[in-house]
Amino acid sequence: MVRIHTKSVLDYSHWRRSIAYYVVRRRPIPHTIFRRLTMNIKLTSLAFLAVFSAMLGAAEACENDLAKLDAEFEGARMSECVAKRKSFHIRIDPENLPINPSPWYAFRVTPKQPGDLKIVMRYSDAAHRYRPKRSEDATRWTLVDPDRVKERRKGKKVILRLATESSPFIVAGQELLLTGAYQKWIDALIEEAQFETTVIGESVEGRALTAVLSAPEDDDGKKEHVLFVGRQHPPELTGAFAMLTFLETVFADTPLAIAFRQRFHITAAPLLNPDGVAHGYWRHNVNGVDLNRDWGPFTQPETQAVKKILDEIANDERSELRLMLDFHSTNRNVFYTQFKNVATTPPRFTDLWIAGARERLDEGFEFERAERETTELATSKNYIHRRFGAPAITYELGDQTDRRLVRASAIVFAEEMMETLLASDPSLEDSARPAPAD
Ligand SMILES: [Zn+2]
Repeated sequence: MVRIHTKSVLDYSHWRRSIAYYVVRRRPIPHTIFRRLTMNIKLTSLAFLAVFSAMLGAAEACENDLAKLDAEFEGARMSECVAKRKSFHIRIDPENLPINPSPWYAFRVTPKQPGDLKIVMRYSDAAHRYRPKRSEDATRWTLVDPDRVKERRKGKKVILRLATESSPFIVAGQELLLTGAYQKWIDALIEEAQFETTVIGESVEGRALTAVLSAPEDDDGKKEHVLFVGRQHPPELTGAFAMLTFLETVFADTPLAIAFRQRFHITAAPLLNPDGVAHGYWRHNVNGVDLNRDWGPFTQPETQAVKKILDEIANDERSELRLMLDFHSTNRNVFYTQFKNVATTPPRFTDLWIAGARERLDEGFEFERAERETTELATSKNYIHRRFGAPAITYELGDQTDRRLVRASAIVFAEEMMETLLASDPSLEDSARPAPAD
């Protein structure tokens, strides 16, 4: 009987020996060896696939007589592409597992002739979430007609029929808003005004984590801070759009915004996961960590960068954190907040803010306040409320919320935020901060 060693699947030496033995002796390879061999090869290739191809997200381009599909651009995600004679079969994998279901995809189609192109997408570990959009210039996007999108197997398989002309176009789960777009946005913002930017840290792959800062000129008394963060989760585009408009309102040249900036120190870091955005990730950073589960452990450079800012506020006796907003997207417009009866500093900020905004937003924009207990789950919201007692709110937009409403409502929420904080008592102390010893 031949003994098969079950060492590491990465060690092929025992297979070579066994196969050589049978090849030299010209005897048939027993079924057991063959089965184990093929199984191990499968396991090994799966491991390689998981580590290399999934983290990179890019399959080789594939083509037939009708078109070529590729994933050779920033933000792309297409893990495997097989061209058949009349159709394409692509697989969309997450960067690593386990992962929350947020299956991002983005690929380019270069047609070779006009017609109707059939693309079958399969998700390896989630159901369809993002309605496909297409764009020829990666700037103006149109929703693919829902009649041309068929979900099968409970959304694990999606069949697209795309009308093609001659120009190449990108198909993606949401609009692309890539790292370069943030830099342009920041450059345009600071060109007009006296705002500063600072690099608060670097991502795992060394991309700059940039924050826009604004500080009152008269800075002698108490320093009141607000912190805005975004894009911890790469595919959450509606939250990203809301954040940019929200910040434009806060940094605008209006009497309200100027008054706000004369009193409050603002730190706004709109892109906390640039690597994830660049690689078309579903949710994590390059180390495979969900950044919004790392506020507490702070194991990642992206969250450590924000912690440094928070430590500076906590260690400065004159500084108080008044508000933190963290922008995301989910299946509806919702603000995750503290419970109404839980103390925050300033008190009742969230009630007043939400009520003010609700009064101004007509019925076109529906949203919900979802009160949540402050738990040990290491989200920004839990960590900040626990540490500072400040209102800490997850600002979530629906994946499908009309983009005009995303922006229009963000203006209202920004203005109401500024009004509410300006009306608060500047002399308040953090409710979570221990009283100074005598
Ligand atoms: Zn999120």
